[in-house]
Amino acid sequence: MTMKFYNTMTRDKDEFRPMEEGKVGLYTCGPTVYDYAHVGNLRTFLFEDILRRTLEYDGFDVKHIMNLTDVDDKTIRGSQAQGISLDDYTAKFIESFHADREALNIEAAEVFPRATTHVPQMVEMIKTLMEKGIAYRTEDGSIYYDIAKFPGYGKLSHFKMDELRAGARVKADEYEKAQVSDFALWKAWDEADGDVYWDTEIGKGRPGWHIECSAMSMEYLGQTFDIHTGGVDNIFPHHENEIAQSEAANGVRFVDYWLHAEHLQVDGRKMSKSLSNFYTLKDIGAKGYDPLVFRYLVLGAHYRSKLNFTWQAMDTAKITLENLYDFMCRLDRTKVCGLDEAVARAKDTFAEALNDDLNTPVALAAVFGLVKEVNVQGSGGKEVWDAMLEFDKVLGLRLAEHADSVRSEVPQEVLDLLEQRQHARRSKDFAASDRIRDELLAKGWVVEDTPEGPRVKPK
Ligand code: AMP
Ligand code: ZN
Repeated sequence: MTMKFYNTMTRDKDEFRPMEEGKVGLYTCGPTVYDYAHVGNLRTFLFEDILRRTLEYDGFDVKHIMNLTDVDDKTIRGSQAQGISLDDYTAKFIESFHADREALNIEAAEVFPRATTHVPQMVEMIKTLMEKGIAYRTEDGSIYYDIAKFPGYGKLSHFKMDELRAGARVKADEYEKAQVSDFALWKAWDEADGDVYWDTEIGKGRPGWHIECSAMSMEYLGQTFDIHTGGVDNIFPHHENEIAQSEAANGVRFVDYWLHAEHLQVDGRKMSKSLSNFYTLKDIGAKGYDPLVFRYLVLGAHYRSKLNFTWQAMDTAKITLENLYDFMCRLDRTKVCGLDEAVARAKDTFAEALNDDLNTPVALAAVFGLVKEVNVQGSGGKEVWDAMLEFDKVLGLRLAEHADSVRSEVPQEVLDLLEQRQHARRSKDFAASDRIRDELLAKGWVVEDTPEGPRVKPK
């Protein structure tokens, strides 16, 4: 089955052809560890997890590198405000990032390189750019990238070179398109940096944010690799600058496919620290939601669509996910149920949807199509259970674990009675089904009939 991804570079859905058969090199811009991640950041990391899992589902051997930006303008500012070392400051945010990642069932990358431990590689790249006459030094000792020397500048974010402001420079890591300028590769130490500096061949200072990713991706994936991802706000300037640095230094194409996730919004605006309109995974937990409800919410929207975060949407996601867990509980794994054809159809649609630029809403619809067929038949068995676990390799909703934990809470006797009640209902023996319902009630269990079938809850 061919796999297609929307490539920001070509602005088209391109067929995915890896450089080496069966293998994929994937680089993801990871968190800037200056604060706790908000769920907007986590949406992008979830998109990357779906990408990784889909590639694995299709049999690719994925080498995924996700960097940790542990030195930049924001981390330095934060550590100084607290009067602690950069390492002490970033350590707790790195830890919390991994805790969030595990809570959301985001698979670990093969390597999580930290910028602070790859400064020599950055220095090497900057030296090459200077030797090639593409980088220049300013009076304070900082080194800038001369964008006029790279004819391809702007090719990812699609703006024209004549929009450039010749000779203008920007030292900040983050800036707007209107400020497009020569950008800092190396920032000479000044007092504001305190004890954050490296003494290197190119002087005393620290790297700019963009060179970090060029150097770390090359270290682990080589000069050219398959897929680079991030959120849409990374397209400019970060990824544009990564291309300029890597391609000018190495003389070869940097990346084949660029994939970017749209933003999570609140009231029509990007969720962000600066707008103070953000929630963390902790906030979500404090409101009583399992983190996987957020994962489910994200799966319900295509990654290239903006997604509005509301508690109402979280409630809907919660109910649907609980119903899915209940559905799993009711499957009888010990015998087949004759739904092979429905299973095969669901599997085809599921894989086709994901291979079509990670269309998770359509993939979920395929899963629910199968759920519906099981409910129409009245019960489902082993082949449905196995298919659901296959789907869960990509969905990552921990379907088996939840089914097992819920199942272990509901006594077998109760599950058997529920099954008998279903049987009575299917044969339209409503007197018997009511009698069993009362019997369950007497034992302390309430039966609820949901669109996904019946479920029991303690009274
Ligand atoms: P940062 O920690 O700021 O470097 O961001 C980590 C990732 O989160 C980047 O890929 C950003 O593009 C992404 N990101 C930031 N804000 C949002 C948002 N509101 N929705 C989705 N992704 C976001
Ligand atoms: Zn990056």
